[in-house]
Amino acid sequence: MKISVIGTGYVGSVTGAGLADLGHHIIFVGRDQKKLDLIQSGKSPIFEKGLDELLAKNRDRISTSTDMVSAIRESELCFICVGTPSNADGSIDLQQVRDVSVSIGKGLDSDDQYHTIVVKSTVFPGTTEGLVIPVIERESGKTAGIDWGIASNPEFLKEGCAIEDFFQADRVIIGTNDQKSRHIMESIYEPLKVPIYTTSIRTAEMIKYASNAFLATKISYANEIGNLCKRLDIDTRDVFTGVGMDHRIGPDFFRSGIGFGGSCFPKDVRALIAGARSVGIDLSILASVLKVNESQPLRMLSFLHAKIPALHGKTIGVLGLAFKPDTDDIRESRAIPVIDSLIREGAEVVAYDPMAMDNFRGLYPNIRYAKTAEEVLSSDAVLIITEWPEFENIDYTGTVVIDGRRVDAAERSAGWYQGVCW
Ligand code: NAD
Repeated sequence: MKISVIGTGYVGSVTGAGLADLGHHIIFVGRDQKKLDLIQSGKSPIFEKGLDELLAKNRDRISTSTDMVSAIRESELCFICVGTPSNADGSIDLQQVRDVSVSIGKGLDSDDQYHTIVVKSTVFPGTTEGLVIPVIERESGKTAGIDWGIASNPEFLKEGCAIEDFFQADRVIIGTNDQKSRHIMESIYEPLKVPIYTTSIRTAEMIKYASNAFLATKISYANEIGNLCKRLDIDTRDVFTGVGMDHRIGPDFFRSGIGFGGSCFPKDVRALIAGARSVGIDLSILASVLKVNESQPLRMLSFLHAKIPALHGKTIGVLGLAFKPDTDDIRESRAIPVIDSLIREGAEVVAYDPMAMDNFRGLYPNIRYAKTAEEVLSSDAVLIITEWPEFENIDYTGTVVIDGRRVDAAERSAGWYQGVCW
């Protein structure tokens, strides 16, 4: 099948490469010609393990375009994978989704074949029916479910193992109200041999938010209990090993630490709270989840002050800038509030990350960037923000370490050591 994929970020690149590997012809549609040229040459526009290889392997079935209207006319199925960032009030900014819906409508205008439009971007329940469908109907003059099909297919990939998540998904959620689109979507995913759950469009949209909000809740819960464990001199890791053995609970997302970042959890929880508020529902558990997440990284500063009361003129090392290991993504990284506080207090920051330093330089051009992790160790104190595996291979002897992620080598060898929850 000929499929257009709109947006070449994490979700679009991985979805397109995965579908190409399943034998489909993919037209990647983007705005940035440089990124499209990279894809065309079999290289990934983002850092994601295995993506270069997958794009290169399927190069013959991949083309690129900046012309969305033509790409729609040339394809039978279209995945919308554009960004849905946060507005100032926490709700999602739908401008990118609105813009692409207009172009899709124009493309469908003269398209005679049945075309199914799939919303993969994370959108608040009701968005596909309340925005995407009306805009496309208006621009095309054609009716959803009769002249063209529509589906919601939320994405659950984890950056760092997104390719694996595509091919071995826990489940594929397909939300659609028309039989034809349902069959097309089922046939696309059937070769993966993974569970497929079909629902209405707004249920699919809600499954995405309810999943991310629950995982974020698990993290904040583990962090709050971790804070208490530290005070009571109990090992939080042992506690959650025991808790996670209950099959009703499960062991994942229970690593106590300095909280979650990234492009999804903070944004999606905020969007769910804001969307609920707009219909008169108060999601107080999720408001607390965010509150814990905001205060958690700042605990590092209170431990630092216990060792170095005045930071002015001191050199403070930061190990890890990415929001998690195996990615160069720094969106809402916990390094951001920590470094802001250090700068405010007059510390000189020297940072190291194996992959995310270029991205971080764009945000913080004036802090010092080290060439190696070891170079950071000569600082007056070192804060560990991201649990990169290479940080386990360092000798921290003589270094003051405040650890936000529990790097065992640091706990073992540091001259002075405090973990945030242990
Ligand atoms: P991203 O910001 O990395 O990529 C979005 C891409 O869309 C960008 O390359 C942007 O240039 C492109 N775009 C925007 N408007 C466009 C237009 N008019 N024409 C062509 N391209 C256009 O975002 P992402 O991380 O890939 O996320 C996309 C969506 O998927 C979001 O709604 C996000 O919440 C959701 N999601 C993301 C992840 C993740 O881990 N990154 C996981 C699951 C779901």
